[in-house]
Parts: sequence; C-alpha cells; structure tokens
Amino acid sequence: MRQLSLDSLIPSYIKTFEAYIPSKPDEELKKLYRTPFLHRLNNNENPLGPPPKAQEIIKRFQPSRAAIYPSGDSFYLRQRLAEKFIMHPDQFIVGNGANEVIAFAIKAFCETGDNIITADKTFAVYEWVATFSGFEARLVPLKDFGFDDKGMLEAIDKKTKLIFICNPNNPTGTYWDKDRLIRFLEAVDNRQIVVVDEAYFEFVEKEGYPDCMSLIQKYPNLVVFRTFSKMYGLAGLRIGYLAGSIDVVDTIRKTCVVYSVNTLAQEAALTALDDAGHIERTRRLVAEGKEFLKSELKKMGLFYVAGEGNYIMIRLPISDTLAYRKLMSYGVMVRTMTGFRFPNFIRITISTMPVMEAFINALRKIL
Ligand SMILES: *Cc1c(COP(=O)(O)O)cnc(C)c1O
Repeated sequence: MRQLSLDSLIPSYIKTFEAYIPSKPDEELKKLYRTPFLHRLNNNENPLGPPPKAQEIIKRFQPSRAAIYPSGDSFYLRQRLAEKFIMHPDQFIVGNGANEVIAFAIKAFCETGDNIITADKTFAVYEWVATFSGFEARLVPLKDFGFDDKGMLEAIDKKTKLIFICNPNNPTGTYWDKDRLIRFLEAVDNRQIVVVDEAYFEFVEKEGYPDCMSLIQKYPNLVVFRTFSKMYGLAGLRIGYLAGSIDVVDTIRKTCVVYSVNTLAQEAALTALDDAGHIERTRRLVAEGKEFLKSELKKMGLFYVAGEGNYIMIRLPISDTLAYRKLMSYGVMVRTMTGFRFPNFIRITISTMPVMEAFINALRKIL
C-alpha cells in the first residue's frame, strides 16, 4: 500500500496554524484538580440560564421531533427577528452560534490574496477563520484598550474585504459610541464590509452606544452579529445570527450550510426574545457583581479593565496560566488571557454574588 504523504496535502497556512484546545468537561476537571465543585467563569455565560419561557419550551420538546430535520433557514425565527427590528426576514441569517456566521461572511467575500482587518486583542475567531482559510488577518493594536479607528482605516488596502469591530470589545469592554462608529462608516465609504459584532449588545445600558440594526438601511456594507449565547443563556444550544442589507445577506447566504441550526435552538431562541424581564434581571445581577469585584480588586491593589459586558479583565502579579491552575484547585475556572495577547491577565464572567465571593476568596488565597 502506498504511504500517505500528508505533508504534501496540507496547505502551508494549515501547517502553521495551532488548533484551539477546548476545556475538558466539568467532571473530568473536578477529578483532575480534586475539587468537589466547579464555577465556570471562563465563557461569559449567563448564570440565570435561559429566560423562563425558553426553559418551558425546552422542557416540553417532544423527543420524536428529534428525528425530523429542522427548518433549513430558521423560517419562523427570521420572521420574528424581522418584526422585532422592522426589517425583512431575508436580511437575517441564523447560524450555529455567531461563530458559524463569522465563517459564512469571510467565505462569501474573501479569495486568495485578500485580507480582513480587526484588532490584535479581541475575540479571536475572526482572526482564526481568516488565517486557517488562507487569508491574511491584519491586526491593528488596541489603543487605550479600545479599537483604534484611525489605525484600522490606515490598514485598509485594495485587498481588504472585511473589517471586524467587536462592540463592546471582548475582553476589554470598551465600545465605540454612535458618532465614532458613523464617522468610521463614512470614512470606509462602502469600500469594505464592516462587521460589528454585538454579542454583548443586550448588556450595554450606556447612552450613546449604537444599535447597529438601525444603521443597516443607511450603510448597506454594514453587517451585524448577535448571539443567543450570552444574554439569552442558550450557549449550549448554539444559535446566533447576522443581519445586513438584502444584497449583502443574499451573497453571504450562498456559503451557508443548511440544517446547521437545530429545531430546539430555533424554538428556544424565538421564545427567548419575548422575555424583557430576563434582560432586566441579568443586567441587575451583572451590575451588582461588577461593583463588588471592582471594590474588592481595588482593596487588593489589582489593576483591572472593566467596561461593558458581563466580564472583567484583571492583571495578576503571577502568570495567568499558573493562576488558572491554582484557582482551579479552589473550584474556580477563569479565562487565561495570554491567548488574547494579554499575558498575566485573566478574564472572568460576572456571576451571582456567592460565586463572586468564592472567586475573590480563592484569588486572595493564591496571591
Ligand atoms: C461569545 C461570542 C461570540 C460567539 O458566540 P456564539 O456562541 O458562537 O454565538 C461572538 N462574538 C463575541 C465577541 C463573543 O464573545
């Protein structure tokens, strides 16, 4: 039998790409770190879970329906989104998490030699998808922990197809206000697709924070990402979406894998949108937890970066990977930030008060 010469089959950009290693399941980690419990503060999940009405839908799901393919284009959910945002259903694409629609958008517009632009310290999936698809990811350094509009405009060239802005930014919580975003869109002047990732949109209460849905009509090159994973507590069901002008979305739709969004996710998401009380409760919880953390971190003399969103970034006097292991032995899982190019920082999800207290106690012990 002929030997497989894998080497000659693999593109160079795949050879040099390092695969992301997901964390092990809770039970495995508890054994590994000898802890009877585990608080996951690494993924910005909502400790309140899905809204009550969505929980009801999930409970009542008929097992026999698992045998039937879902709606291939999330038909009813897109109708509901269109109603909510006063747009057309065809202006939305629902994906297996916002992660999937990132890939759809890049595939739709990039070909060999093209590039995308984003920040160096932001949600890494834009960079990863571009890189392992063979496109250049131009990473413009953050300025004062926020996206640098001027630097990003300067990085644009003829081969730039998409610009990704995370608003508010994960992990720094900074955001562009409406004026700044509009100035940027005017400067780009429809030459590139501008993607604004609003994964944490529902957490932001600041005056002046832009709602990009309302800008799509004026800026046909604007694409907005939203997700049900964070505020709506449906991360485990994997559902998110993008919105844009009809022509742009029709183009992106060509790269979609149908049936990637399961029935339960579609129905839970549809119901989740109706629960305003859930958003209020979550916002209160995040506000309380954030204030508590800020005052405790101040007492401890630790530098932190706390902006919008349900997370906060903390600089430690020890390496973040060492801190991770030590905190794990106290049953607290944080996100190390070396992968985000913030060495010695950790990011933690804002959770309930007892969990925040457990985190602070563990942090005091390890430092
Ligand atoms: C969590 C997150 C997403 C992706 O969420 P999905 O679970 O794939 O829907 C996208 N962008 C940012 C900035 C995020 O933090």
